[in-house]
Amino acid sequence: MQFKEVVGQRPTKELLIQLAKEHRVPHALMLIGPPGNGKLGLALAFAQYLNCKNKTEIDSCGVCSSCLKYKKLIHPDLHFTFPAGDDLCR
Ligand SMILES: [Zn+2]
Repeated sequence: MQFKEVVGQRPTKELLIQLAKEHRVPHALMLIGPPGNGKLGLALAFAQYLNCKNKTEIDSCGVCSSCLKYKKLIHPDLHFTFPAGDDLCR
């Protein structure tokens, strides 16, 4: 997913891109918010951007080998973690 596909979240997109440009990406980020606010899309777009071989100033290219793997959710550096119990979701 590319940043341009994420609806809204402009300040967060700009912050994430700035972190990448300045080589200040923390080892972990937690994106929180109500359901449907684009957290997952933003996380995917940021991961794709970080690994893109031809990124621009504002987005990943969407066509390099890395981007295509992210698009198919098969990039070896892409991992998903989900809550495992009811009490973790409250
Ligand atoms: Zn790319």
